[in-house]
Amino acid sequence: MRQGVIRRFRGWLPEVPDHAVTTIGEGDTPLIEAPTLSERIGAKLFLKFEGMNPTASFKDRGMTVAMSRAVASGSRACVCASTGNTAASAAAYAARAGIKCFVVVPAGKIALGKAVQVLAHGAEIVQIEGNFDAALRISQQIAGDRGDVTLVNSVNPDRIQGQKTGAFEVCEVLGSPPDALALPVGNAGNITSYWKGFSEWRDAGYSGLAPRMLGFQAEGASPLVAGHDFENPETVASAIRIGAPASKEGALAAARESGGAIESVTDDEILAAQGLLAREEGVFCEPASAAGLAGLLKLAGEGRGPEGTVVSVLTGHGLKDPDVILDRVELPEPVAATFEAVAGRMERLVP
Ligand SMILES: *Cc1c(COP(=O)(O)O)cnc(C)c1O
Repeated sequence: MRQGVIRRFRGWLPEVPDHAVTTIGEGDTPLIEAPTLSERIGAKLFLKFEGMNPTASFKDRGMTVAMSRAVASGSRACVCASTGNTAASAAAYAARAGIKCFVVVPAGKIALGKAVQVLAHGAEIVQIEGNFDAALRISQQIAGDRGDVTLVNSVNPDRIQGQKTGAFEVCEVLGSPPDALALPVGNAGNITSYWKGFSEWRDAGYSGLAPRMLGFQAEGASPLVAGHDFENPETVASAIRIGAPASKEGALAAARESGGAIESVTDDEILAAQGLLAREEGVFCEPASAAGLAGLLKLAGEGRGPEGTVVSVLTGHGLKDPDVILDRVELPEPVAATFEAVAGRMERLVP
């Protein structure tokens, strides 16, 4: 049975009384060898497939802690701003906890699968005519205004605490920390979390050094690379379409202290990496999740890629965003229901 990250890593996490533990069996996601892509990047690559969490993104690791602590403190509702996955996760965990969920999202900017999840779980969704950064400001105000409502964005420290368990799992499965960890950076909570996890693991005296943290933003939403906020962030990778990252300091510290870096990749590089993961390794992640691999390919191409063992965190499942695929490839027209018509296609595929 999947016991969830709170029960599995209890000694490492903030206190949650038994009765308040709200879990759907998150964590314990696969670390998948990627032999073909390893050759491409010139290092031994593993994929930490966070799309295998209950709501199909890593957000569940933090949400279980944030929601459990909200329940323990007597909250009647949670609120969050979201580019989609935080909303999907909050909606599911609030349903599980039996409290109300209120999500604020940029109008028309949420990937289809994520919007469907929010609706399925019965959360209240408010679309604003503004971007994620505006949604976060408003959500913070709403939570600040009401003592019985908990903000469950990654500015809530319980989210960061829960998400650091991804680092513990990587260390456990590999037997020691990898040499480098690559991941997408949006609001910068997750890179902050992983660095916290690796640092705590090292400080607890387990073997190995903490890895170099390699964070990648989408070029059109790369405030940490440019050194200033983006008024109108734009990228196909909607999960990292953020112009003013709340955990900016955490991300910069992770890169600095680990000898890593935060760089940017283009939308074309992101989509190409998403395609390679799906077609060469059989792993389907959403566009934002492929930013880590896109970055590794870029560094390798420039002769400055990491060596040794490298983990790329695939933050969310590809089914979250079907439109990105359907924009580029179509289902073919039907053919006659005859052997000849169908066999002709097979012949074309494998002459
Ligand atoms: C939230 C999210 C990110 C970005 O994580 P941050 O903590 O905001 O940096 C990346 N990919 C996916 C799929 C996400 O849901």
